[in-house]
Amino acid sequence: MVSIAENLERVSEQITQAAAKAGRAVNEIELVAITKTHPAEKVREAAEAGHTLFGESRVQEARAKIPELPSHLRWHFVGHLQKNKIRHALSLFELFHGVDSLALAQEMNRIAAEDGERPRVLLEVNVAGEGSKFGFKGETLRAEIGSLLALPRLSIEGLMCIPPLAEEAEASRKFFVQVRGLRDSLEKEFDVKFPHLSMGMTQDFSVAVEEGATLVRVGTAIFGERPKRRKD
Ligand SMILES: *Cc1c(COP(=O)(O)O)cnc(C)c1O
Repeated sequence: MVSIAENLERVSEQITQAAAKAGRAVNEIELVAITKTHPAEKVREAAEAGHTLFGESRVQEARAKIPELPSHLRWHFVGHLQKNKIRHALSLFELFHGVDSLALAQEMNRIAAEDGERPRVLLEVNVAGEGSKFGFKGETLRAEIGSLLALPRLSIEGLMCIPPLAEEAEASRKFFVQVRGLRDSLEKEFDVKFPHLSMGMTQDFSVAVEEGATLVRVGTAIFGERPKRRKD
């Protein structure tokens, strides 16, 4: 059986190759190892191999798992955050990838003010249109960005997307290009800096790196197949 350490090495090598192909510096790209459904022991194996950045998509699962693991590990939240989980989540995660509505951002801002937190967030773009449930449509984001930027406790650092599931990695390319283009135009129009693009999963992270991803979220290629559950 291939070890988690070997998987991490292979994925890192693929990131390096994709960066080279696109003429990008590899140190602009961070690998977020997605640990959802996998037990703490497997995360510990990755940590012992030297990996430090991990991602979870459910607050309840993260609350059980994170305290069992070394405290130097860094955690990102990559799922859909429910309003009633915000308070717990704020103290666990250093970056929230999937902030997908103005209402959620406002509620995070309110609770962060109460708790003295300053969450860093990425805004999720709904690239698939009707296909995926969560995220801002491009036009909505343009209409609401002023209100989002006005939330004093939130540090908005970029965009995130989850393209529709496809057989071919290449099918994701146009969505990654679209999100990068949206980022570039928002930066210009609103005079802001959105340095991060969270794009790419096991299926398509090499393409995402070629198209400008700074954070790739990879689970299966590192930890193996997940046990099936109702919904992610
Ligand atoms: C599960 C998950 C991933 C990782 O998916 P893999 O296909 O296993 O690499 C990435 N991003 C999000 C938001 C996820 O929920």
